[in-house]
Amino acid sequence: MLMMSPMYWLFALPGLLLGMLAAYLTKSAFAKYSQVGARSGLTGAQAAQRMLQSQGITDVQIRPIQGFLSDHYNPRDNSLNLSPSVYGGQSLSAIGVACHEAGHALQKAHNYAPMGLRTLLLPATIAGQNIAPILFMIGAAIGSVGMLKLGALLFAGAVLFSIVTLPVEWDASARAKRYMVESGVVTAAEYPSAAKVLNAAFLTYVAGAVTAVLQLLYFLMRSGLLGDRRR
Ligand SMILES: [Zn+2]
Repeated sequence: MLMMSPMYWLFALPGLLLGMLAAYLTKSAFAKYSQVGARSGLTGAQAAQRMLQSQGITDVQIRPIQGFLSDHYNPRDNSLNLSPSVYGGQSLSAIGVACHEAGHALQKAHNYAPMGLRTLLLPATIAGQNIAPILFMIGAAIGSVGMLKLGALLFAGAVLFSIVTLPVEWDASARAKRYMVESGVVTAAEYPSAAKVLNAAFLTYVAGAVTAVLQLLYFLMRSGLLGDRRR
């Protein structure tokens, strides 16, 4: 069985471990600073709204959604969707995450190029992620190098997506950090704590990119494109 191969785990483990570490750090940083109220007394939703207004943006809908750390910006209907502890929370975590999501809305408003590219790549990525492993497994089973190569090619789209995600996420946090300090929604003393939550969350995307790149390398090696000498 393909998944049992020691070689597979050699390539899968670093991303897996980094992903687990990132999830742990994000959750614990978020939980810790959810208990710390910001002196400004603002909720996440209010902070996000102020950040958007500071750039003259008034057409973004900010709404509460269910879940934990389920916060996201939806470029299709231009909405900020904030989880309960972020939307109504008056903590450093809530303000940090809400301003990060507002950063994505600003990217859209200012036509930030990597975000456009990411949106463009999304459908191909979802297709590639679903089809590539199937092609790869069948190709390996019947010994079809062509099928393996096609799988690797499709999967390369998913890798590109995970890499383009990095500047998009970094930039959204950079916009949030800049705004939080300049506007005073968090004080200079509070800022490092709010930033910690965002930095931990960014590590999640780094883990995703590392996972995807290593998986592609594994695909390429198994398909013979990267000189697998056993064949
Ligand atoms: Zn983000």
